[in-house]
Amino acid sequence: MKMSKLFVQTLREFPNDAEAISHKLLVRAGYIKKLTSGIYSYLPLMQRVLTKINKIVREEMNAAGAQELLMPFVQPAELWLKSGRWEVYGKELARLNDRHGNQMCLAPTHEEVVTSVASGILSSYKQLPVNLYHIQTKFRDEIRPRFGLLRGREFIMKDAYSFHSSQESLEEEYENMARAYTRIFKRCGLETKMVQSDSGAIGGNVSHEFMVLTSTQSGEDDVFYCENCDYAANSNHAISKLQKEFTDGAEFGYGEEKILDTPNVKTIDELAKFLKIEPYCILKAVLYIADSKPVLVMIRGDKEVEETKLLNIVNALEIRSATNEEAIEYLGCEVGYLSYLNVDRNKVKVIFDNSAKGMKNFVLGANEPHKHIVGYNFKEENEFCDVSLVKEGEYCPCCGSPLKITRGIEVGNIFQLGTKYSKPMGATYTDEKGKDKPFIMGCYGIGITRTAAAAIEKYHDDFGIVWPKEIAPYHVDIVPVNADDSEQMDVALKLYNALNSLGIETVLDDRADRAGVKFKDSELIGFPYRITVGKTIKEGFVEFKHRKSGEVEKLTPGEAVERCKQLLLN
Ligand code: ATP
Ligand code: MG
Repeated sequence: MKMSKLFVQTLREFPNDAEAISHKLLVRAGYIKKLTSGIYSYLPLMQRVLTKINKIVREEMNAAGAQELLMPFVQPAELWLKSGRWEVYGKELARLNDRHGNQMCLAPTHEEVVTSVASGILSSYKQLPVNLYHIQTKFRDEIRPRFGLLRGREFIMKDAYSFHSSQESLEEEYENMARAYTRIFKRCGLETKMVQSDSGAIGGNVSHEFMVLTSTQSGEDDVFYCENCDYAANSNHAISKLQKEFTDGAEFGYGEEKILDTPNVKTIDELAKFLKIEPYCILKAVLYIADSKPVLVMIRGDKEVEETKLLNIVNALEIRSATNEEAIEYLGCEVGYLSYLNVDRNKVKVIFDNSAKGMKNFVLGANEPHKHIVGYNFKEENEFCDVSLVKEGEYCPCCGSPLKITRGIEVGNIFQLGTKYSKPMGATYTDEKGKDKPFIMGCYGIGITRTAAAAIEKYHDDFGIVWPKEIAPYHVDIVPVNADDSEQMDVALKLYNALNSLGIETVLDDRADRAGVKFKDSELIGFPYRITVGKTIKEGFVEFKHRKSGEVEKLTPGEAVERCKQLLLN
């Protein structure tokens, strides 16, 4: 490709609506152009990157035994009503009416369609297992589209769906996909960590995410992991051994139950200071509103509620903290002194976090303004469950080593869905005994556009993108320093033809611009290698520059071709 013909415009400045570095660089280097919030055109350079990622994905999915198909982007509401998701998907699902008034939606994902496709064709256990995948545009009306391609509204996903007649077969395929995913990301030049995760809107029981670990704010997930063993989990799913598993208020002189005046002492910190006690001896009460119903969470004072876990436990669609007015309405007391004592459990659901299990002689609100109870012990049998957020410094639930925390970008995930879709949709096969059974299903997603952006988050420097060579739009950029110099142009052209005929993807920067401009663009766009043909050609040499290391070699044109072959054709 001649640079003078390439459909690209690089910008001098970063766009001012971009926060994430991948977003800034993709716009500035001419890869994407915004149409409207969260919706972008993928320009020719971007399209080449996406094509390469797609190729790797296809090769590995095919090698793993999956078959490619392509399913529709616009889908009828009927299917979604059948699965039960039409009501529960919420505002992320973009809905529209066709000219006949039929309700339709833009596909945010394809479980419903693939289930209906498979159920017409797969009828016997003998045809199972089957894994079907496609690479398709999705639309999700994300509440906060941001970070460019990392969280768009329209984006490209590879999604695969498998159908089985037994849980064992599903588990085998789940492992098979996990291996394929590790290979896919590795071939894209990305190291990923497989972490346990919450299943979210997709549903199902077991799921893992593939995370690109990053320290930047664009990693939207917190990941806890253990350096001593394999344990790794998204914070919405992570569990831990607490720093102090059993606590006793008696250690601080509160071994006897009594009500104390605690005027204007509202927060855990204020209360701990006031009573000269540690927060872990306080049983905190936090009131939430889950789908308009009150839920009171009782949790140890040094711990916080993990809202995704709570959402799942109460099986709600939306959750938020209650206001002070709502606390007064449902519990008869203002925030700061709340407790589960004397609460009408028919009106307010009460949940006890596991962290409260080992508490003795603890402090809790009296459910009366400006009063707390000290030296309290549970007087009833309570059920405990996990709704708390892990804290750094707590210990690995598997081996007891301290847990580490980092940020991660989720580039892919795998789910064991079970019969979540096949059952309500009546998608069945006939088993060995002639009985109809719902398919046992798995699903497996990769964000194609997000993977490209994650690679930039990981690989860039002050000058621009540093593509891993496997997914770079072109491999080599040839820059004649002076386009008017016929000797330089001649050598550059010969190199260009030689590399192209070897199948090495090459750009020739034939523009009449100053060399400095061409070098800047070359680094910004992120070609892995640059061959500069300048004055030294008189002595028979060109300059071969490695984008990543910055290393420069002085080579003859012939040696430069050999170097490209060695670096790119293995
Ligand atoms: P997230 O938690 O980031 O919203 P998700 O759990 O909703 O992701 P899935 O529905 O399982 O994701 O989609 C599969 C993959 O599609 C994700 O792993 C991610 O790589 C990609 N993806 C999901 N939402 C977006 C988006 N808004 N923009 C770009 N890629 C996305
Ligand atoms: Mg999502």
